[in-house]
Parts: sequence; structure tokens; C-alpha cells
Amino acid sequence: ASPASPLETKSTCCYCGVGCGVIIEHDGQQITGVRGDPDHPANFGRLCTKGSTLHLTATPDSQVVRALYPELRPSREAPRARTDWDTALRHAADKFATVIREHGPNAVAFYVSGQLLTEDYYVFNKLAKGLIGTNNIDTNSRLCMSSAATGYKQTLGADSPPGCYDDLKHTDCLFLAGSNTAFAHPILFRRIEDARALNPAMKMIVVDPRRTDTAEQADLHLALLPGTDIALYNAMLHVMLWEEWIKPEYIGAHTEGFDVLRRTVREYTPAMAAEICGLTKKEIETAAEWFAHGGDASKATMSMYCMGLNQSTHGTHNNAALINLHLATAQIGKPGAGPFSLTGQPNAMGGREVGGMATLLSGHRDMDNAEHRAEVAKLWGIPSVPEQAGLTAIELFDAMAAGTVKAVWISCTNPAQSMPDQNLVRKALETCEFVVVQEAYRNTETARYADLLLPATSWGEKTGTVTNSERRISRVIQAVPAPGEARHDWDTAVDFARRLGNELGDTHTSALFPYTNEEDIWNEHRESTRGRDLDITGLSYATLEQQGPQQWPFPQGASGGKARLYEDGIYPTASGRAKFVATEHKDTVEKADARYPIRMTTGRLRDQWHGMSRTGTVARLYAHEAEPMIHMHAADIDRRGLKDGELVRVKSRRGEIVVKALASETVRPGQAFLPMHWGSNALGGLGTNALTLKSFDPYSKQPELKHSAVQISKY
Ligand code: SF4
Repeated sequence: ASPASPLETKSTCCYCGVGCGVIIEHDGQQITGVRGDPDHPANFGRLCTKGSTLHLTATPDSQVVRALYPELRPSREAPRARTDWDTALRHAADKFATVIREHGPNAVAFYVSGQLLTEDYYVFNKLAKGLIGTNNIDTNSRLCMSSAATGYKQTLGADSPPGCYDDLKHTDCLFLAGSNTAFAHPILFRRIEDARALNPAMKMIVVDPRRTDTAEQADLHLALLPGTDIALYNAMLHVMLWEEWIKPEYIGAHTEGFDVLRRTVREYTPAMAAEICGLTKKEIETAAEWFAHGGDASKATMSMYCMGLNQSTHGTHNNAALINLHLATAQIGKPGAGPFSLTGQPNAMGGREVGGMATLLSGHRDMDNAEHRAEVAKLWGIPSVPEQAGLTAIELFDAMAAGTVKAVWISCTNPAQSMPDQNLVRKALETCEFVVVQEAYRNTETARYADLLLPATSWGEKTGTVTNSERRISRVIQAVPAPGEARHDWDTAVDFARRLGNELGDTHTSALFPYTNEEDIWNEHRESTRGRDLDITGLSYATLEQQGPQQWPFPQGASGGKARLYEDGIYPTASGRAKFVATEHKDTVEKADARYPIRMTTGRLRDQWHGMSRTGTVARLYAHEAEPMIHMHAADIDRRGLKDGELVRVKSRRGEIVVKALASETVRPGQAFLPMHWGSNALGGLGTNALTLKSFDPYSKQPELKHSAVQISKY
């Protein structure tokens, strides 16, 4: 085809969890352009700066950083050298088999990614739990969505976001918490703007310590102190109780545990919470009134929330305390209402659907449930799946540092940059005896630690499915051939599994991994969801192609997906009732003190994505913020005798980096904000996560990436 008439392939954006549909323009060999898919129900043709520059990440210039062939180093002293796939995978199978024979299955682990496609994820999960017999498979979704998942499960009974994007059109109050939606989920924010234009009476409350672009547009911005969300939500419920804005009929018919919660929130007067949160009493009372609409049940309230709630040592209870408000006011299960967690990555939800985490099994089953383990073993045709808890992300890298996990396979993620306490993570990668990194990019911080680097296909080069924030499953379609010798993640994992099975003398491996293409894997995954809350037995590739992206559940015989859950007030708990979780205010792990007086939060920039492996190859995406800068209040800059734009040393108890100071009105005195994206390439050694800490939530095991205490001084 000539450039004037490019070929076109419909697919999905590979960045955030909004899950926008894209049309890839190409000539069969090279991607030449991208535009929004007007038929996709997530974006109706729109794309943000990141999505609309995706084709620029596929130019020959930007491809120089791609991993194109396997590389192996025979020893840690030797440099990595090019090898062939057969040698590479034989070596990997031999190393893993040796460790398993000598130290048992729990001495190996997999650390995968919310950017893998569902089919990739499914194979890795089966490889670890079905073939090797370890639950040591966790994912970077642990850093992203796990508190949202445990929050839903503790309250509503299942990891299932109840609403949909279309609810924005029906809501009268949007409560955005811990989310700079305008930057992190830009196309969703366009839908919020559209909804406000259609309904000017709609209120928008933004809860965020920073005055972000999102907060700028709020009717009410609650600039609470970091980590004080529970006190705020408890106080809002206190006001609702006092004013009799709650809905006793709904509470009585569809929930349990309200009496305990009522006693808990009795203490949380607006005055008391105002003190904890750094807000005014009036702000809390106004938020309560708008959320509950002064008791008017004909109005609807929707909350959307993200990392500000999740990345906390009390992330699960941050989520639960907000969901309590929805249950108490019956703001759930109707158009325009409900708690809605925003997904950070394109397929964090798909990963949880296939059970690709240390605490889960296929089809939203729980690893610690004997019945669920038996169901999965039956589905896979194996005697049992392992019972012992797997290591979650932080625990896994601790185990590598301690020498108990001796071989690790890392796929599609860059933990040497994205995990908290970067120095410790890098020590873990050095200590681990055998590190496999399966990556599209050869220049990531983690790739440096690879004993074996395996090239992977990426966006535009691979096929499968992803699930976005509203439970909507979309196809991802290959448009151009794989570069160099890169292979699909699932294909490499299946090849490795068959070789490892041979090494271990397992005679069932071929039956466990019979797949010849992505659709074989998808069909097995769908069958594993039969009868579960996310049942997609009716959703074949053909249905997705004919009817377009669909929300789950979509059981066999259904004609369409389900926009809203819990409309009947019945919840997937043992009693059929949703559960209130009574929880108290808990502080951040690190308090500001005389030595580390600044409370630093982290977050996204508008035009960069995660560790910048992909967006960092596009010059135009640096126009918005070109270099690493720590955003500080002018008073803090003055107090330290600094100048705006000057290099400063930022130090926490775990490490230090040097960046420029940026005077900013968006943060309060005593607080600072550092974008999460910058890694060692930009900062000459360490990145933002050299400063962050690994303490995590006891239920979700998600670390407190959002807050650390730092000192900032002249460089
Ligand atoms: Fe891609 Fe998210 Fe932007 Fe949509 S909003 S184009 S999914 S990065």
C-alpha cells in the first residue's frame, strides 16, 4: 500500500486503564500512524497525547532501544552476548530445573506485569502454579490496584468494579479521590468535562493533597494531609448520620455490620477530623452534604479513585471507608452511582481475572480457599495446585535479597526502577543467582541485571485481549511483524514450560500447554470463569469482533455485557449482603520530623508513562515537563536559601537523588511532589524510588509509594 492509503488495524492503546480503542495505520511492515477508534465505547475516537503519539514509538529511530535477539551471559563476570532461542531457553530450563530439584519449587519465582495481555498472563500463571507448583508469581499490579481489589472484596464480596464510564452522564456528584484524572486518565477526564457541560448542576469534589489540574476544576477541593482519607470519610459519615441523610432501608435490607461502624464514626466529629486532615469543618460538612445530596435519594453520587487511596499502608481500608459511604447512602447499583476504582495499567484487571498474582487463582478464585484450589486443579487436569502462600512483590524481592529465591523470571516490567526502596531491589537482583528478563526494551534498569535477556513483541506486534477500568474487554491486534527475533510473551512462556517439563520429567506438560495460538488460551481462560462473578463463557474472539468491546460478565447465551452490577442489592458474599468495614484513622508510616521535615508524594506527569521505556523515546512528550523536578512551595525554597530551578539534593532514610527544585503553588508548605517516572537514565544512577519505602498494607500487600519523609538541601 502507498502511504496515501495505509492499511488499518483496530487495536487498543497500551498505556492507561481507560482502554481507548486505536486504529493503527501501517504498510504491513511499519507502523505509520495512529488515530482514535470512533467505534470504541471507551473513547469514541479521542486519544490523549500519549495515545496519539504511539506510532512515534515505533519509528526506526525509536526502535534502536528495542531488544531484538536473546542475549546470555555464562557467568556474572562475563558480558552478555547474542545467542539463539534454542540455546537461551535450554539454558533457562536447565537453570530453573536445577534450582527446583535442589531447593524446591518455592526457590523460583515470576514477576510479571499489568501490561501483559490476558493470554500471556494466563500462561505464566499456569506455568508457576500448574507446572512448577509454586504460588510465587506476582506482578507490578501489586503496586497499582491490589488495595482496590481487597477493598472491593472486603465490602462488596468480589473484585468487581460495579459501574461504568457511562455513569458519568447520570451522576449528580462526582467524588474524585487520590486521582489526578486530568493527567493520569485524560480521555476519561474529557468525558467528565462533557458530563459537567451537559449537567452544569453536577458537583465535582476532588480529594488530593495537591492542587492538581484536576483539583483546579473542582467545585470543592479537599486538600487533605497525605494519608488522612479514613478520618475524612468517617467524619463525612458522622455528618450524614447526624443529619439523617443515610438510608436505613437499604442498610437493613442489603448490608451488615453497620452498628459497629456507627459506633466507630461517632468519635469522628468534623472538628476532630478537620484537625487530622488539615481541612476545615465546613469543607467536611459540605462534602458530606453533596455526597448524600442532603438525603435526596433521587440524586446520584459516583466516586472515582486511584493511587492516592491504593498506594498506602492502609490502602484497603482507605477504599473500604469510601465504599462505606456509598452503602450507607444507597449510592450504588443505579445509574450514576457507585464506587469506581480507576485502573492504572492497561490490563491490571485482566491479570486479576486469570489469577496471575501470588494470592489468587484463575477466574477470581482465592488461593487460600481449598474448594477453589480443587476447582482449578480439576480444570487444569492436575492432582492439586499449591497451598502455600506465594510471595507478593515486596516479599519476593526481599526473598531474592535473602537468597531464598534463587531464580526469577521478570516479564514486561522494570522493577529496578518501579519498586520502592530501589537500592534494596537492585541488591536483590544482584544476589539472585539467575535472572531472566523478558522485555521489549534492552535499556531498562532491570535489563542490566539480566543473565538472560529475551526479546518480546510489543504494541502493534502482538494479539490478545485486555480489560479496562470498567470491566470492558477489548481486542489487541498485531499489525506489523515482530522486530528482529522478538517473540510473543505467551509463546516464549509455553516453549519454556515444555522444556522445563522435560527437564523435570513431567509427562503432563504437553497436555498442560497445548496452545498453538492466542485464541486457544483465551478459550481455556473463558471456560475457567464459568459460574464465577466474571463469567465470560459467552465471549469468544468472534463475538468481540462482531459486537465490539464488551463488559463482563458475559455468560454463555448472553446477548451483551453488563453495564452495572448489584442493581438487585444482592452481593457476592456468603450472606448476599455487602459488609461495612469499621476502620480507624491510621497515619502514614513515615512522619515528618526535624531531620526529614518534608512530606513527599509521588505521581504521574501528563505526557509520560511509568518508567518511560516507551514514552521516553518520543521527543515531543518532553515538551510538557522536560526533566526531573521536585515541586516545592516557594516558602520552603526560600527557607532553605534555594532558588527556583536550582539543583537540590533530596534525601530520605533509604537513598538520595539530585534534581531541580520547581517553585509550585500546587503543594502546601512542608510538602513536595516528585513525578514517579524518572529512573537512573535521567538521574545518573538512581531514580525517584530510591527515596520511597517498602512498607505495605497488611491485606493487599501494596506498598506506600505515595508518601515518604525527605530532606531537601542545596546541591
Ligand atoms: Fe491511551 Fe489512556 Fe490516553 Fe486513552 S487515556 S489514549 S488509554 S493513555
